[in-house]
Amino acid sequence: MYIDDTIAAIATPPGIGGVGIIRVSGKQAFAIVDSIFESSGSLPLMDRPNKTVQYGHIVDPSTKKTLDEVILLLMQGPHSYTAEDVVEIQCHGGIVSIRSILSLLLAYDVRLAEAGEFTKRAFLNGRIDLTQAEAIIDIIDAKTEDSLTLAVSQLDGTVSNFVKDLREQLIAMIAHLEVTIDYPEEDIEEVTSHEVGEQLKPIAQQMDELLATAQSGRLIRDGILAVIVGRPNAGKSSLMNALLRENRAIVTDIPGTTRDSIEEFMNIEGISLRLVDTAGIRETEDTVEALGVEKARQYLDKADIVLCVIDGSTELSPEEIDILKSTAGRNTIVLLNKSDVNQVITVADIEAHGTFTAVESISAAQGEGTVVLSKWVKELVYGGQVSGNHDTMISNVRHISLMEDARSQIQQALDSIDSGMPVDFVATDLRGAWEALGEITGDSLRESMVDELFSRFCLGK
Ligand code: GDP
Ligand code: ZN
Repeated sequence: MYIDDTIAAIATPPGIGGVGIIRVSGKQAFAIVDSIFESSGSLPLMDRPNKTVQYGHIVDPSTKKTLDEVILLLMQGPHSYTAEDVVEIQCHGGIVSIRSILSLLLAYDVRLAEAGEFTKRAFLNGRIDLTQAEAIIDIIDAKTEDSLTLAVSQLDGTVSNFVKDLREQLIAMIAHLEVTIDYPEEDIEEVTSHEVGEQLKPIAQQMDELLATAQSGRLIRDGILAVIVGRPNAGKSSLMNALLRENRAIVTDIPGTTRDSIEEFMNIEGISLRLVDTAGIRETEDTVEALGVEKARQYLDKADIVLCVIDGSTELSPEEIDILKSTAGRNTIVLLNKSDVNQVITVADIEAHGTFTAVESISAAQGEGTVVLSKWVKELVYGGQVSGNHDTMISNVRHISLMEDARSQIQQALDSIDSGMPVDFVATDLRGAWEALGEITGDSLRESMVDELFSRFCLGK
């Protein structure tokens, strides 16, 4: 991968702001900015003290025109975000000012950075590993304080350190095994096999403990999809409103968010929750009814929690029985609504149609719903464990699947040892586990994967 050139991009969000920041990174960063920067100091930027702020103006050398008054932040590699020489130009936050400085830079030997390219350089230059780069995306995307805490701890290296430690232990065992492959005496192989087996057991256990946090971790990181179903007039909209009044999330700009109130984001127990009213989908899909039904089914398939709203004050209709049957056997909370008026439906009436996670009475009209939902969100995410400890958690789906892969190869190794297979079989399994773990941190990696991963960043990051 070629990273000899100098790149630049606008690092602040599009639009007008108090300051605009342009980030320049690479071997020529100081020299190029120097040629468009004028200040009272006479020293070249390169010779000014590192990590200082320099005041001056950006001047187009060909026209002598001053583009803006700026301050520069000088950061010499390797102690910078990219581990290269970095200059950050802070100008006044107008669109014209930022863009004209950027175009002036691009007239020099500077290339416009791709999305995520600064972070990719930090990775390629060895300042951070892949899990830390991913943590940076997660920090930017975090929608709750809990998901932020999780991402920050990942940036600190909790996942990396765990993985690196495992890999070191594995490589030592592989070496141990490989030495004995060259020894013809059978008994040495056997002794080594036994030793490696004993060392592998605690490793397998550590991996199991980490994988046990995967469900919580994933839900904290990615949030929960809760889908509301129920016949017309059961009280779905009332429930949605009751929940929103207490838990509305401060969320802007989530791609695909529509404001037609079939889908809302909220924050419950520190978890970001996406709530969808499936009837709302049908109501807003004015084209073909079937399209709405199909979409509703897709939401249901993906749901982490199904909220099935039943009007408790009238007999179950055939439609409601159908809904109950189709949502039974999964994580479905049946809400017997309208508890403020006379109830004719009992828990037994509901359970006659299937198995549900819970059947609870609420009055959505009186603003109830949050207590019940909070309880089941907590149950789903933490499963009765104490919440709030994100010290060593695995949360990223990519990490989880590689960790599971590594774990199953360790199991194969253990099984091979048990059944007295030759040591080279065991070594092969361990090498497989070592590789899979290396993909988590990016130590063993495929270039296409790296490109795909960094393309998910925003520009200027
Ligand atoms: P949806 O069609 O399922 O979205 O149902 P709505 O939320 O629009 O409610 C249908 C009707 O039931 C409205 O007249 C609501 O005022 C009423 N309703 C909803 N929840 C309750 C409740 O908890 N108690 C009572 N008494 N009425 C309710
Ligand atoms: Zn409705």
